[in-house]
Amino acid sequence: MTPSRGGLLAKTDKGYYTVYNRATKLPEGGFVKSFAGGYNVAKGVGRMLRQAGGVEYELTYKKVKNLNLRLAADGHVAVSAPRRVPLAEIDAFVSSRAGWIDRARARRTPLPEPPGDEVCRAVFAPWLEKYAPLFGGMPQVRLKTLRSMWGCCRPAKREITLNRRLAAAPAAAVEYVILHEYLHLIYPDHGPAFHAALDAMMPDNRARRALLRGGADWKNPDSVVE
Ligand SMILES: [Zn+2]
Repeated sequence: MTPSRGGLLAKTDKGYYTVYNRATKLPEGGFVKSFAGGYNVAKGVGRMLRQAGGVEYELTYKKVKNLNLRLAADGHVAVSAPRRVPLAEIDAFVSSRAGWIDRARARRTPLPEPPGDEVCRAVFAPWLEKYAPLFGGMPQVRLKTLRSMWGCCRPAKREITLNRRLAAAPAAAVEYVILHEYLHLIYPDHGPAFHAALDAMMPDNRARRALLRGGADWKNPDSVVE
């Protein structure tokens, strides 16, 4: 980047653009962001804001070997690329990571307060009682507020832990998680025997599990059932 009249010149793979102290639109649709605090003048590094696949990202050309994409602490997407990689290829790369970016952002979004213990116990009780006779009686049930798991099971202690956030999910999904954890009292892993028993007792378990995926508040955390 070299000083020019009224701004600086930034080099991208489409040529040089004058950069002012604000985002400057590029002919091919991207933006060159303000140079303040951003450019490595000595190496002539260009930095621009672009969009691909619904994702806005900040592209920096620099001396790196591979395309790199990261989610910065403030939530913006930062991509660094070797000079030789064309913009279209970088856009395609960012597009292909759109799902990952959404999930990574969701994990960082503060989750709403879960229902209180009394509500949780009331929501879970009917399903816990329904299956207790089939699994040797009522296990110890603990409630936790978890970010990445709906429930887990410690067969040796006959203990099932349920995420308080599950109490806000549809009843069909609640029942699925509770049966899933009950089955772990017998089958500790997710092997064929576990799935055979689950399919036999709850033929629509996949559809119920699918209710736990997606973006609405109660759908966080991810559909991990341990
Ligand atoms: Zn499991």
